[in-house]
Amino acid sequence: MGWLGAGTLAPVLRLFDTAKGGVVPFEPRERGKVSMYVCGPTVYGPPHLGHGRFSLVFDVLRRYLAWSGNEVTYVSNITDIDDRIIERAQREDRDWRDITVRCEGVWYRAMDKLNVQRPDYDPHATAYVEGMVELIGRLVDHGVAYETSDGVYFQSERVDDYGLLARQPLESLKAGARVEGTEEKRSPIDFALWKKAKPGEPTWPSPWGPGRPGWHTECVVMSLGLLGEGFDIHGGGQDLAFPHHENERAQAVADGRRFARYWLHNGFVEVEGTKMSKSLGNVTNLLDLVEQYDPRAYRLLVLRSHYRSPIDVTDDNLRDAERSLERLDTFARRVAELGVAAEPDAEALDRFRAAMDDDLDTPQATALMFDLVRRANQLLAAGDTEAAASLAAAVLEITGALGLELHAEGGEVPEAIRELARQRDEARAAKDWARADALRDQIVAAGYVVEDTAGGTEVRPA
Ligand SMILES: [Zn+2]
Repeated sequence: MGWLGAGTLAPVLRLFDTAKGGVVPFEPRERGKVSMYVCGPTVYGPPHLGHGRFSLVFDVLRRYLAWSGNEVTYVSNITDIDDRIIERAQREDRDWRDITVRCEGVWYRAMDKLNVQRPDYDPHATAYVEGMVELIGRLVDHGVAYETSDGVYFQSERVDDYGLLARQPLESLKAGARVEGTEEKRSPIDFALWKKAKPGEPTWPSPWGPGRPGWHTECVVMSLGLLGEGFDIHGGGQDLAFPHHENERAQAVADGRRFARYWLHNGFVEVEGTKMSKSLGNVTNLLDLVEQYDPRAYRLLVLRSHYRSPIDVTDDNLRDAERSLERLDTFARRVAELGVAAEPDAEALDRFRAAMDDDLDTPQATALMFDLVRRANQLLAAGDTEAAASLAAAVLEITGALGLELHAEGGEVPEAIRELARQRDEARAAKDWARADALRDQIVAAGYVVEDTAGGTEVRPA
């Protein structure tokens, strides 16, 4: 892997665009400004590990774009009206709003624990129904939507390149379509824009009678409404590419609007080697994960895989991530104690950029980060504090750009104990093992844990 030194062209971020089926240079609508829309949760139950992954993947992209000097506008919606919300409300005999408000609270609690930055805007579908009714009206006027006894449907085949995001020809989409909705549908791939209300359901008024919008109409109206035509990135989990994102896109195309410039999708989550499913119970609950493990472990796990690859969430690899975080924390404490300020090593940052610009190669970026820690510890052991401080500053830049918070405080070790640790390092350097052991015993007796690292004696409260 080469890095770009001074004088060469600035690296350009390249991303895999689902619509183009390949990695392409990312050129935002407006230089220095990036607009992103990431499909958020439908708030009817607890968030699962798949929600955690897409939130982390797009949080990393957002942070990296901002770190690279862009002004990022990040929108992620809350779908607060949906069949599943209504079903649960009816099953539990509760007000549907009680469910959505509580589930949204749980959602943000999990996101905060994961250190996922809050969106700049989190539009709620129920606040945009008027705009959705207007769009559906225009689609009916354009002759691409039709009314049935149970709603209004979009005629997918009227959009020339329908199926673009599925990367499949129309015929195979039709053959594979689930039979859903009314028999009055003209094609199995037509989808509901408006659902006429059944008794007892929440409703909004429309020219086709009381009802509620379909999910695909929600996102197209909210994304265009907040970010404008030709916004930069539309993202979500791989399962959303088709039909959800394709159906959003089809409506925009049929309405003559320029939609997202780039489509990004992240890979699936497997749990203990099995594709995630509800049957696995609690282990798939994101809140359980962030309570049972260091919440940063999931971010590190996500970073260690390429965002388009599947990840396997297991107890083993979460524990392994926790141990790696402990190494990073120890390093951060050591650096903080040194108290030496330095400019981040430029070559290290160039290599970080090169990895991230290559379709967000976070596995390579994290490998680089751990390599820098190892090299900095070696330099510290060799007494080259200045060079070590420069690599350490690069590590902190990188962890910051990736949203990985390090715990540099972690237990107050008094100066007297740190002095004993320094004396022990001197004794070891002089191969005076008896004295080194005696000093170790002294530190342990004072209630501290002693660890030997490449950078020397590490001490923390027991
Ligand atoms: Zn959406």
